[in-house]
Amino acid sequence: MTETSDRIEAFRKEQGDRLLILGHHYQRPEVLRHADAIGDSLELSRHAASAGNAERIVFCGVHFMAESADILTAPEQAVYMPRPDAGCPMADMAWRDEVELAWNQLQTAASDEWLPVVYVNSSAEIKALCGDRGGSACTSSNCGRVFQWVLEQKKRVFFLPDEHLGTNTAFQLGLEPDDIAVFDPAAGNGGLSQASIRRARVIVWKGFCHVHTLFSAENIQNVRKELPDAKIIVHPETPHEVLRLADASGSTSQIIKYVQDAADGSRIVIGTEAHLVQRLADEQQGRVTIKALWYSMCPNMHKITESNLHQLLETWPEAARIRVPERIAASARIALDRMLTL
Ligand code: SF4
Repeated sequence: MTETSDRIEAFRKEQGDRLLILGHHYQRPEVLRHADAIGDSLELSRHAASAGNAERIVFCGVHFMAESADILTAPEQAVYMPRPDAGCPMADMAWRDEVELAWNQLQTAASDEWLPVVYVNSSAEIKALCGDRGGSACTSSNCGRVFQWVLEQKKRVFFLPDEHLGTNTAFQLGLEPDDIAVFDPAAGNGGLSQASIRRARVIVWKGFCHVHTLFSAENIQNVRKELPDAKIIVHPETPHEVLRLADASGSTSQIIKYVQDAADGSRIVIGTEAHLVQRLADEQQGRVTIKALWYSMCPNMHKITESNLHQLLETWPEAARIRVPERIAASARIALDRMLTL
């Protein structure tokens, strides 16, 4: 343990349950060793929502996650990030004005038949827009359940911002390619005719996570040649043409469970963020052999270090506090609460 590490631990001990440190699975090990809870977006949202005694919550993850924590906690609880500039490029691919334009276009083509479903990897403003229109947020763990909730109401899904999670989920529920359309905000009218909008049961926003779109069919073919006995599992933010070649797919927590449930001596190749793959490889050493499908790291998650976590705990600068204005938070909370209920 380093001096920085010892100081963080001393501070945590002194603060007791007045301080809650949350760490996403994609964080560095040096950061995660100080976390009170480690999880994916859904698990950490639940921790934030039930953090009754915590006066300060430190979110070691990216900006949209800390926003969700601020929305779900009481007004007197303060949420901070060691690096508030750790954003998510995919969340930044959907802006409120362009999403509103798209929504109006869908209403014109097939009025009152849509419900928005917003991936938690989105800004509070997009979640608010979704909450105001009767929709729900979702994570990669419960996306299928939320799609079903929409389809059971005989409505159509407008999903954003990740094209691939939306498409993979629709296929998993048995929808056909003709049921799915992609709305491209960079193209006129989203690149969709009124007829194609009316035909679609699911429309997905053309956004992506550059960490998961890095995996290719060639990566999978190479593993099949080099390690024919290995099982391959990928995250559903991976494009469908790659995902369908894998043995399994699943959210971060589902990938972890897949590894934990694997038989002794098995080999698993994982297509997701590199920090998580490395941690699983370390934890499973001597039992299950874990390899990365390809080295793909999230540079934003990587911005948080033990040193800037320590600096935050020493100084609590106002600039590191994440505040979602109540006018946005109230509407976004509707979408997040629905997700937690579903
Ligand atoms: S891994 Fe992808 S979706 Fe997650 S924070 Fe990084 S860029 Fe965003």
